[in-house]
Amino acid sequence: MILPNMHYANLKDSYLFYNIAQKTGAYLEANPGTYLYRMGIGDVSLPLPEVVIQALHQAVDDQATKEHFHGYMPECGAPFLREAIAEHYKGRGVQLSADEIFVSSGASDELGDILDLFDPSSSALVIEPAYPAYVDANVMAGRNILHLPCGRENEFLPSPRQDRKADLFYICSPNNPTGAVFGRDQLQAWVDFANKNGSVILFDAAYEAFIQDPELPHSIFELDGAQTCAIEICSLSKTAGFTGTRLGYTVIPKALVRGGLCFHDMWVRNRTTKTNGVSYIIQKGGAAVFTPEGQRQIRENIAVYKNNAGVLMQALDSLGIWYCGGKNAPYIWMQCPKGMGSWEFFDYLLKEIQVVGTPGEGFGACGEGYFRFSTFGSPQDTREAARRLTELLGKKEF
Ligand code: PLP
Repeated sequence: MILPNMHYANLKDSYLFYNIAQKTGAYLEANPGTYLYRMGIGDVSLPLPEVVIQALHQAVDDQATKEHFHGYMPECGAPFLREAIAEHYKGRGVQLSADEIFVSSGASDELGDILDLFDPSSSALVIEPAYPAYVDANVMAGRNILHLPCGRENEFLPSPRQDRKADLFYICSPNNPTGAVFGRDQLQAWVDFANKNGSVILFDAAYEAFIQDPELPHSIFELDGAQTCAIEICSLSKTAGFTGTRLGYTVIPKALVRGGLCFHDMWVRNRTTKTNGVSYIIQKGGAAVFTPEGQRQIRENIAVYKNNAGVLMQALDSLGIWYCGGKNAPYIWMQCPKGMGSWEFFDYLLKEIQVVGTPGEGFGACGEGYFRFSTFGSPQDTREAARRLTELLGKKEF
């Protein structure tokens, strides 16, 4: 009898989104016709920018003619897109060659697949609260996981610790769920720590486009020494509305070498074995994002989400509630008032004001007592949710 990968038996059931669906479902059944203000969603609500739609249409037409038809694409990405992304990095002062950029179908795929490059006996450090896929992908691979819980004392931006040395470090900045963003010095400390210990940083930059403070790094490769210790995983999902269209990219510098093997070359070998690349049509749509007009149009959409963040932040400021995120990220991470637990606060908001958010406990035990609001909803819903929140939590008797 074939044996399954027994590590799957070690996966903990994720009750987070299941529980939210159960609770909201039960509420709607008991209160038919009620409208819920869904401030928990991680998906975008605005459509793809016009410039992307035009490029997608053009690419479909290309596929209809013998002269312009594309069959299999290069496994690691079309040169036109890899070059456009390399130029984009250059604009930030980061020098990469186009072939250090690998086009992908999105960050989720890469966060799991990239683990092929590391020995199963290597350990992984996850800074918590965290995007749940980091832990689960490593449990599936049977890897030893170290947790680094963080909290308000360091604004959810921990420094490396000697007692938490691992082979792989996951760093997500801007962070999901906390919205916290590492500053240059803080990130440099992680880069130096990784280089000193021979570790590799998996830098999840899915939300980099939401950074507005000019001094904050968008890419780990803006830091000295990162090219010898980091892999950066990016996505066009939130940057440009590609959640359903699927496109991302991963940067593996050629200078990243361990045990005499070059991770860049290993990934070329991996991709040419395990994928046949991303479709021509989607890559053409993605290339449009990196044109000046594409950048202008994505900024317009991001500005809508940023306005939502501003509305929620203003409400929390007026209530004197502690939170982080929002300014440079599409998530706001607030402390539940009056020492409430995160599910208790969830139930309270649902029952009293029909606002749905995400309980912090779902992102790791240290998320207990916190609550995540997403800014990806509609401006109307966000305004009304903020108004209801202010009214409810601002009541004298609360
Ligand atoms: N990384 C983080 C931190 C995320 O929050 C998400 C999606 O919500 C992803 C990666 C996955 O992005 P993609 O849509 O590119 O798979």
